[in-house]
Amino acid sequence: MSELKEYKCPNCSGRLEFDTKSQKLKCPYCDGTFDPDIFDDGKQYDLNVEKWEDADYLVYSCKSCGGTIMADKDTAASKCPYCDSPVVMIGNVSGDLKPKRIIPFKYDKEQAKEEYRKHLKGKVLLPKAFRSEAAFEEIKGIYVPFWLFDGKANAKMWFDATRSHTHREGDYEVTETRYYKLFRSGSIEFAHVPVDASEKIDDELSQSVEPFDSKGLKDFNDNYLAGYFADRYSVSAKDSVDIADERIMNSTRHMFDSTTSHYDTAVPSASSIHLMHGRQEYVMYPMWMMNVRYKDKRYVFAMNGQTGKFVGDLPVDTMKSRFIALGVFLLATIVVALLQLLAIGVK
Ligand SMILES: [Zn+2]
Ligand SMILES: [Zn+2]
Repeated sequence: MSELKEYKCPNCSGRLEFDTKSQKLKCPYCDGTFDPDIFDDGKQYDLNVEKWEDADYLVYSCKSCGGTIMADKDTAASKCPYCDSPVVMIGNVSGDLKPKRIIPFKYDKEQAKEEYRKHLKGKVLLPKAFRSEAAFEEIKGIYVPFWLFDGKANAKMWFDATRSHTHREGDYEVTETRYYKLFRSGSIEFAHVPVDASEKIDDELSQSVEPFDSKGLKDFNDNYLAGYFADRYSVSAKDSVDIADERIMNSTRHMFDSTTSHYDTAVPSASSIHLMHGRQEYVMYPMWMMNVRYKDKRYVFAMNGQTGKFVGDLPVDTMKSRFIALGVFLLATIVVALLQLLAIGVK
């Protein structure tokens, strides 16, 4: 059996949870607040966890109610399904597995729900029933493990570019095109390029709530996890570096491309990009995940827990979209008919 850590109020033994408004650990019973950077319950935790290489699930016992908590081997923070006590699998966030830094949640569950409602507003194509029937199947505040990479790109790029201008010479319209060979070289430094280190969370989804502001990073303390869910990394830094490199390469190309905007056309003809790897850092970033079920289909929404950036997919009502398409078509027909009328009038 592995060791769990719970967060008890020193005044009244109530369950402490990290509170987004005060950015402190807060007791809901006596309103006591405690600084998460220094709060320590004084207990020692036994980190000699049984071997888990071949066990997908681990069994924990809740210290508050004695209930059994099942969690997969990557789970770092969860809640007791019986008494709702926040628990942290301390072995998954200490020693070699301890994140270096963390961005604490700034948005709480109510704000996440509010952003969801705002997201639905003004969506004309959304079936009416979705707003009423659709139920939150699940809403979870999750700390997602990320690797941050620093790096530098030394790049050279060549472009075939043109500039054209047209002028009149008597009865002739003359277009003059100049052809250029462009050469660009330079180096760009990148800091904190994030790569999602969790297999459970779709990379596309975690990238869609970016960016996170790395200025909000604080030294890691497991107190920040109290009341939330968290996973430890399941993809190593070594296996994440290729994704970081690709992001750095794409950004470098994009930045070099943008230096040719004052030409009419510019097509890259050759490039050489040399990457140098810098520091890497293991961090946790806050994300709200919402599952909504509608007509036996699951829709996933996510929100950046630091900035409130909201993303998600929504069902489109086919009847409504047909109607709107028809509307556009009708409008277009009327415009064409009007133009024809005008043409007749001019004749
Ligand atoms: Zn208390
Ligand atoms: Zn319990």
